[in-house]
Amino acid sequence: MVRIGPSGIDPLFIEEGHVNYIEMPKWLHEKFGLNLGEYPFTHGVMVSDEIATKIGEESKKYNIEITAHAPFYINYGNPEAGFDYKGNAYIISSLKKLALMGGKKLCIHLGSQGKLERIDVLKLIKDRLKKLIKVLDENKINDVILCFEVMGKYSQIGNLEEIVEFAKLDKRFNLTLDVGHLNCLMQGGLKTQEDFLKVFKYIKENLPDKYNDMHIHYSKIMFNAKGEMKHLTLEDSEYGPDFEGMAKALKKLNMAPTIVCESKNKMAQDAYELKNIWNKL
Ligand SMILES: [Zn+2]
Repeated sequence: MVRIGPSGIDPLFIEEGHVNYIEMPKWLHEKFGLNLGEYPFTHGVMVSDEIATKIGEESKKYNIEITAHAPFYINYGNPEAGFDYKGNAYIISSLKKLALMGGKKLCIHLGSQGKLERIDVLKLIKDRLKKLIKVLDENKINDVILCFEVMGKYSQIGNLEEIVEFAKLDKRFNLTLDVGHLNCLMQGGLKTQEDFLKVFKYIKENLPDKYNDMHIHYSKIMFNAKGEMKHLTLEDSEYGPDFEGMAKALKKLNMAPTIVCESKNKMAQDAYELKNIWNKL
């Protein structure tokens, strides 16, 4: 079953008087009929165990799958000592809270290229991810899916091919296919169902055991020659990518991923629109 829901907290949630993410599962279910929510650890892992547990109870009650987004501070591409250790600590603490929420999928940005050559950064990150595998083993963390995100700027790690290679390193690794980002990297090249089919088939061939557990981020995004500029809403008709083309390609391949909507300030409202488009096809 496909799952669709918002990234973080739609401003409408606050406008309607809600204050805590504990209220989110009920809101998503009753107001929009959605079945997914991505919890933001983006500015730190600050939620208490008690609240995380309550979010888990509510999400179960309303059939909402909770995924999470790891802190933005992770940068395995920074060669300075300590960035591997810090990144691992952020990931472990995010995974522990996510487990209390009943979720498994953690979306992670790997970092930026910085001043190093691309090939050297990729090697550095690969070595650090191998260390992360040991840390996960030591902590006996098995039933999780670490979804490394395809990023939207050329200066960031990684593109689709890089992320697919990282996902091969461990059974717990997978990707967050941010199709908005990928469309930026392709300078608007994700237009038709055929364009999406090519991408999904590539992932299926390379990650045959994992492609159906893949996590998708969807939003329309403005780009320039350097890649991503800013997130837009479904109202955009200039940049794309088109959701219908993606949904048709997913249905054709019988794929049912988790799809998180990252529309600017309309994440839940646009997720509702995406769900309607999906259901109509
Ligand atoms: Zn992200």
